[in-house]
Amino acid sequence: MGRNKTLFIALFSAALNTLSANIPNWNYSLDSITPWVTSTDLASLPESKIRGTIDSLARIIPRDERVSLSTYLLTHHPVYNTNWGPEGNLFPEVCEFTSTDTFQFTLLEGSESFYFNYFGSFNWGYGPRWGRMHRGWDLGLNVGDTLKSSFNGVVRYAEYNEGGYGNCVVVRHLNGLETLYAHMSELNCKRGDFVLAGESLGLGGSTGRSTGPHLHWEWRFHCQSFDAMLAIDTSSFALRSDVLTLTKKDLTDPPEYQIKKTAKSKSVYHTVKSGETLSSIARKYKTSVSKLTKLNRLRDANKLKIGQRIRVK
Ligand SMILES: [Zn+2]
Repeated sequence: MGRNKTLFIALFSAALNTLSANIPNWNYSLDSITPWVTSTDLASLPESKIRGTIDSLARIIPRDERVSLSTYLLTHHPVYNTNWGPEGNLFPEVCEFTSTDTFQFTLLEGSESFYFNYFGSFNWGYGPRWGRMHRGWDLGLNVGDTLKSSFNGVVRYAEYNEGGYGNCVVVRHLNGLETLYAHMSELNCKRGDFVLAGESLGLGGSTGRSTGPHLHWEWRFHCQSFDAMLAIDTSSFALRSDVLTLTKKDLTDPPEYQIKKTAKSKSVYHTVKSGETLSSIARKYKTSVSKLTKLNRLRDANKLKIGQRIRVK
């Protein structure tokens, strides 16, 4: 602990030295503060220094003593104090993209790093698969392989998901992006934990809708998944750049998936005219009386009124 504290002071001083002179003093005391820094201390940091400082601090504060870091982020940081959602809600964000929106993210700042969970096989990429969107990458592994956070962030979700993800972790990073890790055999993090890139989230497995051990790994922004290929070079599995720009197109599902979705859910209506019966309307729209009765929850199929609007598809 003595060595840790000395290192802490050195790094902390370095962080302080990078601040401009008019930033208020950090009222910290190594003896009285557990774990050493309060969220109020962090609140006096300028935006441009937050990520670098948090990274430096997290590297010397033991993982289970980083409450001040996550408390600070959850109460002060715009990325964390909006759309955080209640426990158990996998995707609480609201999708509010307009066609001209582009979003820029700094993937790495200061001493931050990136970790790629790779165990030798890249099984599937992002995109439509078997009639539905496959919203991540499938990376082959052995049950029990350690899965680590790709970037620094706070764990937002860490539980068993009934929707098919199995044991699943979602980490929200300091730039607003989220990464999701699914089908794990074991979780060893909890909601609210601050994790550094490369720190363990749990063990690989095949829980949920999975046919064999693998990591299903998603990248997300607000409610929308996107292809990690935009950020990662698949030949080296390294980041293409420290900055990622996403356009509305990157955050929109491929057209073939959209067409299918639209066709399925598109409703057609008919206004009943004089002389029409349910069976004549059914013939006109190449459907059946029973389908129309069901679709419109009609109790008495003979009681159609002129001008009544009924759903035919
Ligand atoms: Zn998958």
